[in-house]
Amino acid sequence: MCEPDTGSGGASDLYVYDPESLSATQCTGDACAVCHVQWPRPRTALGVLPDGGRVLGCGECAELMGLTPRSRASGALTAAR
Ligand SMILES: [Zn+2]
Repeated sequence: MCEPDTGSGGASDLYVYDPESLSATQCTGDACAVCHVQWPRPRTALGVLPDGGRVLGCGECAELMGLTPRSRASGALTAAR
C-alpha cells in the first residue's frame, strides 16, 4: 500500500491464480501449480491467490515462467558469451 507506483518494484506483479483452477494441494503450496509435483517441494512463488495465499511452483516450472532468481539466468548469459 505504500508503493509509490507500479512498475518500479516488480515484486507485486505476481499472477493471481483462480483457486477454482487449482487443486487443494496446489492452493496450500504443497504441490507445483503447473505440473502438480509434490517432491521436491515447490519453493518458488509463481503467483498469489485472491485471498493473499501464495501459489508455489517447482524450480523447473519457475524457470519456464522466467521466475527463477537472477543469478542463474545471468550465469547462463555469461556462459553464452
Ligand atoms: Zn512444476
